[in-house]
Amino acid sequence: MMQLGMLEAGNRHDLHVGISPDAPDESERDNVDEAEGAFGYVHSYETASRYDGPGLRVVLFVSGCLLRCTYCHNPDTWHLKDGTHVSAQHVIGRLGDFAPALRSLDGGLTISGGEPLVQLNFTRRILAAAKRMGLHTAIETSGFLGDRVDDDYLSCVDLVLLDIKSSDPETYRRVTGRELAPTLRFAERLAKAGKRAWVRFTLVPGLTDDSANVAGIAKYVAPMSNVEWVEVQPFHQLGAFKWKAMNLDYLHEKTSPPSPQLMKRVIEQFRNAGCRTR
Ligand code: SF4
Repeated sequence: MMQLGMLEAGNRHDLHVGISPDAPDESERDNVDEAEGAFGYVHSYETASRYDGPGLRVVLFVSGCLLRCTYCHNPDTWHLKDGTHVSAQHVIGRLGDFAPALRSLDGGLTISGGEPLVQLNFTRRILAAAKRMGLHTAIETSGFLGDRVDDDYLSCVDLVLLDIKSSDPETYRRVTGRELAPTLRFAERLAKAGKRAWVRFTLVPGLTDDSANVAGIAKYVAPMSNVEWVEVQPFHQLGAFKWKAMNLDYLHEKTSPPSPQLMKRVIEQFRNAGCRTR
């Protein structure tokens, strides 16, 4: 039986490695959700985010991701073995401490990562418990595992922060190492279900800034009435030290954050296509 750890308040920029060396591989999806999600692997949580959903948010960063985005600022969330092994009950208890404050500040819980859909049943339990506490709930996801999500899971989620990293399958593969199609399938399902969504797009000079790439996302998202915002997130170097510490090949050592002019051009492209941006 794997050693259970405690959930400590932290920060998405803290480095976590090798905390649960016996954890299963995140690609073995069926083995990951132990006892139907009674236990899971967590990177950290933050208590006062204003960027990851409406109001004040507790953000839980879970471990496990099947994508390998070249600009990922949290490569220490890719593997379950790098996360802390905790019980869902422990996470729910900690969330309960913050629930009154979150309710009074019109906030709630956001589960990010890593990828919340790797540990589907673990995150399902936590989201369902948050709903029982009367909290607003959100997940941040690439949508790559969207086919795993059933209607019961979606019913526990008020808002989906959907990362669309590119509209071009080739670029998407270059960015993430994976296929674009599952993300688009999930986006269409959310649109059909009328599920509130914010689309997030990371602007990386020289990688995702191509005008046709941006236009492709804008044209795709604009007709989706469930999408409230497109958030253009500028590439940054805050995670670069993690790549170094983990001995990973980092392709963006020399990549600069987008200039104000480039940000303006991309935001205007989204606006001109009919998307609301920020
Ligand atoms: S989907 Fe998110 S956590 Fe996964 S590799 Fe990409 S940026 Fe990192």
